[in-house]
Amino acid sequence: MVESFPVPSLYSPCLLCPRACGVNRFSGAGRCGETRDLRLASASIHGGEEPPVSGRGGSGTIFVTGCNLGCGFCQNYQISRDGMGRPVDGKEFAAIALALQGAGAENINIVTGSHAVPAIASALDRARAAGLRVPVLWNSSAYEGRAALDLLRDRVDVYLPDLKTLDGRLGERFFRAPDYPEHAQAAILRMLDFQGELRWKNPVPLPPSPEPPPDGALASPPMVLAKGVIIRHLIIPGCLDSTRDVIEWFSRHGRGRALLSLMTQYTPRPSGSPRDSGPRRRLIREEYLRVMDWLGEFGINDGFYQEPLTGGDWLPDFNRANPFSSRLSRPVWRWKDPVLGEIP
Ligand code: SF4
Repeated sequence: MVESFPVPSLYSPCLLCPRACGVNRFSGAGRCGETRDLRLASASIHGGEEPPVSGRGGSGTIFVTGCNLGCGFCQNYQISRDGMGRPVDGKEFAAIALALQGAGAENINIVTGSHAVPAIASALDRARAAGLRVPVLWNSSAYEGRAALDLLRDRVDVYLPDLKTLDGRLGERFFRAPDYPEHAQAAILRMLDFQGELRWKNPVPLPPSPEPPPDGALASPPMVLAKGVIIRHLIIPGCLDSTRDVIEWFSRHGRGRALLSLMTQYTPRPSGSPRDSGPRRRLIREEYLRVMDWLGEFGINDGFYQEPLTGGDWLPDFNRANPFSSRLSRPVWRWKDPVLGEIP
């Protein structure tokens, strides 16, 4: 059992997300399968995020165990569905965040923590008090309730919500959440209201080194997002109408206020994965080119898109010391490590 979190608890009855289970998470779990314990799986410096997220130093990603949405094609299913990870208390969370900052992270990027907002809010307060200075990013599926978002408001600098679909039938098929579109839209509009205009900062300085910097490292260091919203959308093979709806939605609600990030990294999970409801193939080039045409049709040029991907880098394995390829990620902490008790 880990320590109590002092933030007024929203765990009993738990109405943190639109599932609205109403359970007491001090004595049990709701549909997400999570109790009041905050569990983490991995923390690493990640260079594969959008340029203003990775910056020069890399993004300090913290992967939270569990998920309140449960996509039937989740690439992180080992931690989101299978429960890989272990409980941490606020002190260890703060130590992990500060270790990432000390390793040169541009920001702290909290991945899929919607079911653990009260614990994370409290842990962030502890990390800030202990010297965390870099921006905090909230990287989620946007399936979040108003109370959870209100708790994050003064603690999060940059929101990275997914807008997965606006089609309730796909919400039912992939997440068993036909109400996903209405709740995700409401959550993202609220994030946009919280943030106002995009704000930028310089990337972290390069550490002193007798070696010359790598090519391009100083020539054009990317500016890093200090405040704002990046709306992400993973293109699901065979579901392009859904992607067109999302692009059109962004053109009405996000353009000029946020950045759009289109991701092509959909990768089928190993066959036989539990409750797998996703397509069994990757995006094909013809689909990719149609989506690029829509960006032009809707006049969207403020954002990012991935090139069509090859290779297997996009299925992490959280059993390994480095869950991702070494080209993308540098591990700082993982769930098998001993307790990181000292705040540096
Ligand atoms: S966070 Fe979990 S327990 Fe709480 S309402 Fe959502 S699914 Fe239910």
